[in-house]
Amino acid sequence: MSNLNQLIEEKNIKALIFDMDGVITKTAVVHAEAWKRMCDAYLKQRGERDGKKYELFDVQEDYRKFVDGMPRLDGVRNFLKSRDITIPEGNPGDEPGTETVVGLGELKNLYFQEMLRQNGVVVFEDTMDFLQEYKRKGFPVAVISSSKNSYDILRSARIDKIFDTRVDGVVSAELKLEGKPAPDIFLEAAKRLNVSPQETAIFEDAQAGIEAGKAAGFALVVGVDRGTNKESLEASGADVVINRFPNP
Ligand SMILES: [Mg+2]
Repeated sequence: MSNLNQLIEEKNIKALIFDMDGVITKTAVVHAEAWKRMCDAYLKQRGERDGKKYELFDVQEDYRKFVDGMPRLDGVRNFLKSRDITIPEGNPGDEPGTETVVGLGELKNLYFQEMLRQNGVVVFEDTMDFLQEYKRKGFPVAVISSSKNSYDILRSARIDKIFDTRVDGVVSAELKLEGKPAPDIFLEAAKRLNVSPQETAIFEDAQAGIEAGKAAGFALVVGVDRGTNKESLEASGADVVINRFPNP
């Protein structure tokens, strides 16, 4: 039996909560590319106007530090702040590409949707095998995401019916949940599964998600490193970091 299965048994875990982008679906890479396309275009355009050369978006460092796992508008704000840029917040309904936090967020989302249509959604099979086996054993399973696109993504990968509950960007807006690194999304998922954090494991690939899980007191906070961020997940306090899910 692997270390992870052992930990789940030892800690008397009763339920599992999975982050979507980067843990279940290979969409973290698509998000990073969409952020880069939007940010670089804006930085170049703004640089010409300001007579400055802004450092372009780094799909590893900038993605991890400023946008990964967080609500879209927080991502826009965080990243621009890192380049000493402040722009107006704007209003819901701002056209994609408007020079506002909302407008740039919409443009990123447009690029993301376009890339998904072109490439489809790829699912991590190791995660699905693991998750399905625990479901068969009777564990309730939740999917969480900061994304407002999560239902469409799960549906197009034909895995939307597997989860007992879903707490995502749409639910967060309805219930006014604060985004990661705040623990709200995870706590809401545990509540809906009828379990306490002390008997639940969470699986996350973003620093902000690990911080959220630790802040909420989850019994087992597992970092899922798909090849680029083992150190940062450990530094954020993950109880254990895996690079693939073991066979149950
Ligand atoms: Mg993620």
